[in-house]
Amino acid sequence: MSDILEIINTRDPHETEFVQAVVEVLDSVKPVLDQNPHYRQAAVLERIVEPERIVTFRVPWTDDQGNVNVNRGFCVKMNSAIGPYKTALRFHPSVNQSILKFLAFEQVFKNALTTMPLGGGAGGSDFDPKGKSDDEMMRFCQSFMRELYLLIGVNTDIVAGDIGVGSREIGYLFGMYKKLSNEFAGALTGKGLNWGGSLVRAQAAGYGCVYFAAEMMATRNMTFEGQVCLVSGSGNVAQHTAEKLIELGAKVVTLSDSAGYIYDPEGIDKTKLAFVKRLKNFRRGRIEEYVDNYPGAIFTQVDLSHHRSNPLWTHRASCAFPCATQNEINEEDAYALINNNVKLVCEGANMPCTPEASAIFLRKPILYAPGKAANAGGVAVSGLEMVQNSQRLKWLAEEVDERLRIIMKGIHATCLEAAEAYGTPGNYLNGANIAGFTKVVDAMIDQGVV
Ligand code: NDP
Repeated sequence: MSDILEIINTRDPHETEFVQAVVEVLDSVKPVLDQNPHYRQAAVLERIVEPERIVTFRVPWTDDQGNVNVNRGFCVKMNSAIGPYKTALRFHPSVNQSILKFLAFEQVFKNALTTMPLGGGAGGSDFDPKGKSDDEMMRFCQSFMRELYLLIGVNTDIVAGDIGVGSREIGYLFGMYKKLSNEFAGALTGKGLNWGGSLVRAQAAGYGCVYFAAEMMATRNMTFEGQVCLVSGSGNVAQHTAEKLIELGAKVVTLSDSAGYIYDPEGIDKTKLAFVKRLKNFRRGRIEEYVDNYPGAIFTQVDLSHHRSNPLWTHRASCAFPCATQNEINEEDAYALINNNVKLVCEGANMPCTPEASAIFLRKPILYAPGKAANAGGVAVSGLEMVQNSQRLKWLAEEVDERLRIIMKGIHATCLEAAEAYGTPGNYLNGANIAGFTKVVDAMIDQGVV
């Protein structure tokens, strides 16, 4: 194991997020390698940590003042052993090669867990969507797609949204893809409902996260009825996690964005959540504005840079759903949750816990689920959107939702089985890593050294 890490650290010493994601998987799969020497002989670790291809490109675009701006675009094709790449697309100023390699690496295992034939990838740009007009967003997306369309396709790489890429951006990207490729093809998912999109795709990552959490709760004869829940973020995943929790009778008391968080001791009900959706998805405002409408709530400014702790996690609650971004829960936050007697931590975001925070949760008798299992509902319904596009059919919302539920139940069972089989019963992190890993590396071995 240490030799693999040495290779990565020597090749790409500054890729801290990627190294963090790799270390987590290596820790989990050590017993698998010990019991299956043919994996080591086939050098599967050396191969799985090296992306199959990385492309970077220039993205020039003109702002509303007529100035020409240049951003950097990326496409990381990590692994296509079990199917065409399924790429998560992120637009955020923090985007760099390390962030996208970590996202792509996570995606490989997550997609394998869904049981769908999908490989893993990630792409995006260091472009900041905040404060951009619709016209600027469109010009940027069109310029980005002028390069990306060379790299994607229904049988090559299928793209879906991540941070900063929602329905508006997918619309502009798809429009340009269709024009350039001269075909109406499902190479992007998360499309509008009138032009090839699937019902429940927008809700899928958040709903799926709660379905997974409900399965975990059921192992201890618990439900969400009356449980106080902390949710971070206020984007796609956070909104729909909160929505499903409210539907199941939980009391959601927090939401956040990169400027801070709101705490509403009365609970965020359906009406208040509808306000948040309008605020974030259409007015593109800040979560702070929630307290202008609901004065019983409190806004607290937070600077999450440099892994500072976040007072959001100090509020007393039985369940925590980090749904904003990577490394948003550090060691101090983890202890705050544990000291308040949290019973469940379920990751809606990708890698939201630092390694120290994860280790604390794993040492305690709480339910703790990694994002690559718990948020797999997003990619699962992207897969279902692809199926509907191929069939030229559109399923009812109930049908998609039921399939999502079944997939999340299946992932939950798979994680528990794999964790048990390798000596760590109840450890969802090990279970997810082991189950995803074995599926992908078995396919790599079948296909030879390519
Ligand atoms: P959105 O862009 O819709 O929302 C992201 C939210 O997180 C916003 O509230 C944003 O605040 C906040 N945020 C982003 N970066 C930071 C930061 N550096 N510090 C503090 N807050 C931050 O993204 P999604 O909801 O789609 O994604 C959230 C997480 O879920 C990500 O980890 C993503 O990888 C993961 N995910 C997403 C899926 C999907 O289908 N969309 C599927 C599976 C996982 P602000 O508006 O101020 O930037």
